[in-house]
Amino acid sequence: GSIQRENLCSNHPFAISTLSTPPLDSSILHLSLKMLDLEGHLNFDNISHAAKDFGNICHYLPSAILHPKSVTDISTTIKYIYDLGPSSGLTVAARGHGHSIEGQALAHQGVIVNMESLSGKNMDFHTGNAPYVDVSGGELWINILQESLEKGLTPKSWTDYLHLTVGGTLSNAGVSGQAFKHGPQINNVYQLEVVTGTGNVVNCSENQNADLFYGVLGGLGQFGIITKARIALEPAPIMVRWIRVLYSDFETFTSDQEHVISSPDSFDYVEGFVIINRTGKTLFCLEIAKYSYRHQDSESINQIIDAELSKLNYIPSTLFESEVSYVGFLDRVHISGMKLREKGLWDVPHPWLNLLIPKRSIHDFAQQVFGKILTDTSNGPILIYPVDKSKWEKTSMVTPDENIFYLVAFLSSAIPSSTGKDGLQHILKQNKRILNFCRKARLGVKQYLPHYHSQERWKDHFGPQWETFSRKKSTYDPLAILAPGQRIFTRAG
Ligand code: FAD
Repeated sequence: GSIQRENLCSNHPFAISTLSTPPLDSSILHLSLKMLDLEGHLNFDNISHAAKDFGNICHYLPSAILHPKSVTDISTTIKYIYDLGPSSGLTVAARGHGHSIEGQALAHQGVIVNMESLSGKNMDFHTGNAPYVDVSGGELWINILQESLEKGLTPKSWTDYLHLTVGGTLSNAGVSGQAFKHGPQINNVYQLEVVTGTGNVVNCSENQNADLFYGVLGGLGQFGIITKARIALEPAPIMVRWIRVLYSDFETFTSDQEHVISSPDSFDYVEGFVIINRTGKTLFCLEIAKYSYRHQDSESINQIIDAELSKLNYIPSTLFESEVSYVGFLDRVHISGMKLREKGLWDVPHPWLNLLIPKRSIHDFAQQVFGKILTDTSNGPILIYPVDKSKWEKTSMVTPDENIFYLVAFLSSAIPSSTGKDGLQHILKQNKRILNFCRKARLGVKQYLPHYHSQERWKDHFGPQWETFSRKKSTYDPLAILAPGQRIFTRAG
């Protein structure tokens, strides 16, 4: 039940101390927060939904939820909390769509900022040579896609699932099959408006307050709340040729994946996944896509695709091709999500594990994990695809120390009451075995959407970037008010 799950999240003393410094007497707190002059409002009741996230593993109740109507509402609230000084212990977490896994958007007894209250404002498009759109930090990517398409434009880089907010994915990276070509979403942003941990509203970009700009991108919400973002756009395709082919040999599979990402003009999207059936047989699926534009005829696209496919070494009889609309392609996970929701399988615990594995280690990793630690893939998909780091630059995001690295995502769902192989405990144990193996074998692996239970581990994660990261924390959020659910810094108090 929920008590057991809460323990899983909080059984380390570090986790408890960073998430729950005792705040002011709650009635005084409510009274004083109620006095704030806001355009939006604060809720002290009906707040239990903000005590959990998509992972459904951690549960921490906040004290209040701010529904901001403007950036000033967020700034006023944070400034007020900052001015209370260290003794209040109050924390603030921006909540995007709450699709984190390990409580990253929670704030035990703190204030949650419901970022989606800011969304739905006009999106401001700039067409022309280098088109872009200004959007709210609480906007869902699906809405940006739909509005952009009306102008014949589209963002360049995506996540597999579009019902996530701009602020939520930009605080991590935002990675999908386009990243090999365009870099992650954090490398496709021109400018941000941010409210720092002292309540200041700051505009930042490559040329203005660059230290904060690159800090916030991939910064796990530690330096400020993103209230606006300027997202790079390009002309939108109309249709997508979606191709899947199978391999039984891991080396052939990865060498084909690496070949495709080394020729960015060949395909527009590259991912892949692992299938281990119950008899232990393992197959690898390469998933690629080619966009088509209004001015292109299908014959010329066929020729390009055939020429590129002829360079690959998949099992010939396994070629599966389809043509779908651009929106249908990008929004594909939402459709699967709705089907799971109908079956009651969406709101279950999701003990996901996302790893970034340097190319030099991917074979050792595969040999140990696919088939040995993991004997089937019935708990959920396992994604695996390479990206090229030359497109990832300067941000707070931590990547392995090799130019080509693989994203490997174990997207497990747990059956809440099960004590078997599909139960939460079993899957969490399996994740731990994978992580322990990576550490012991010194594979140079980094976690994506990282979560650790001690600052030592966080320092390991950041490596040489730790000094910069903690220096930025003391500059932009000196009391460590923001995003306590990441459990990196302890709230001053
Ligand atoms: P939340 O969970 O609400 O917040 C995440 C963190 O960011 C929290 O620490 C929060 O405090 C902070 N935060 C939220 N908004 C702001 C803001 N405006 N300013 C500053 N900090 C903020 N990721 C990928 O890269 N690629 C994928 O393909 C992908 N697919 C996914 C599919 C599903 C079904 C799910 C559930 C997740 C997926 N993710 C993927 C992970 C997802 O990108 C992250 O979990 C992301 O943080 C979720 O966005 P959110 O809006 O729900 O953020």
